[in-house]
Amino acid sequence: MRAYQIENILYAGVVGDALGVPVEFEKRDSYYIDSMTTGTWEQPAGSWSDDTSFTLPLIENLMTNKSYDDLMQKFVNYMFHNEYTPNGVAFGIGNTCAKALRNWSVNHYPALECGDPSVEANGNGALMRLAPLAIHLANEKDISKRLDLEREYTSLTHRHPRSIVASYIYLEIIHDLLNGCSLRSSLDNLPNRLTQALQGRFDELKELSYFEAMFQPDFATTLRKEIKSSGYVVDTLLASTWSVLNSTSIDGAVILAVNLGEDTDTIASITATLASCENLSDHINDDWKSQLQNKPLLDKFIKPFAKKEASEK
Ligand SMILES: [Mg+2]
Repeated sequence: MRAYQIENILYAGVVGDALGVPVEFEKRDSYYIDSMTTGTWEQPAGSWSDDTSFTLPLIENLMTNKSYDDLMQKFVNYMFHNEYTPNGVAFGIGNTCAKALRNWSVNHYPALECGDPSVEANGNGALMRLAPLAIHLANEKDISKRLDLEREYTSLTHRHPRSIVASYIYLEIIHDLLNGCSLRSSLDNLPNRLTQALQGRFDELKELSYFEAMFQPDFATTLRKEIKSSGYVVDTLLASTWSVLNSTSIDGAVILAVNLGEDTDTIASITATLASCENLSDHINDDWKSQLQNKPLLDKFIKPFAKKEASEK
C-alpha cells in the first residue's frame, strides 16, 4: 500500500463523518445530502465529529507505540479539554464512550476494563474509530494476533462480545481489502475464518449470528427499506457494507449511506472507509475534502501515519 492510498482511506472517513454531521438523527428521505452543509449540531459546514476526534488519538497512539492508558488520556483530552476537534468544541459524544472515560479518569479502572460489558452498550462508538488499527495490521499474517488487538482496542469503551465481534468483522474486511481481496469474497470467507479463529470463545462465537444477513450471497439485493441505519453496531455495519456493495465509486457509496438517515455521520464514515479500501485506485471527492474544517490538524496526524504505514509491496 502506498502512502497516498492510506491518506485517502483516512480522509474519506473524515469526509463521510463531516457530510453526515448536519443530518445526524434526521429521518430517512426527509432530506437529501450531496454536499457539505450545516444542520443538526449547528457547526460550520465541513465540521467532523467524535468519530474523527476518537480516530486521531488512535493514530497518534499507533504511531508512538504507546500504552492503552496513554490512549485513554488522549480520549479524555478530547472529551474534557476539546483537543482533536475541528472548531475547539467537543460535541456529540455517545454515552458508552463517556462512561468508559469516566471509569478511567474518575474511577481509576484499568484501561481494558473501562468499556461497558452490557448488552445495551452495543452502539457503534468503538467501531467508528478503529480503521487505523486495521491499516496498522495490514501486514500481520497471524489472525489471532490481529483479533487480540482488535478485542483490546474495542474493549477500552465497548466490552460486550457483540461490539467486539463487530470490530472483528469490520477490521478483518479492511484487512482483506488491503490485501487485494474484493468485498464480496471477503464476506464469503469471513464466517468460516472467524469461526475457526474463535474456537473456545463461545461468548463471541454465538454473536456471529447477529451479523448473518451481511454474509448472505444476495445481501446486496436487500431492499433499502429493510436496511436499518441506527447507531446499533449491527445496523451500522450492515448499512455501511450494503452501501458499498451497491455502489461503483467511493463518492457514490458515501451519498447512498449519508441519505439513509439516523446515525448518518458514523455510517457515512465507515462506508467511506470501506469503499476506499475496496477502490484503492479511486479517491474521495476533492471538493468535499477541501471543505473539511481544521485541515492542518487532520494533516498533522494522517500524513505521518500514512507515510509510516506505507509499503512498496
Ligand atoms: Mg459522530
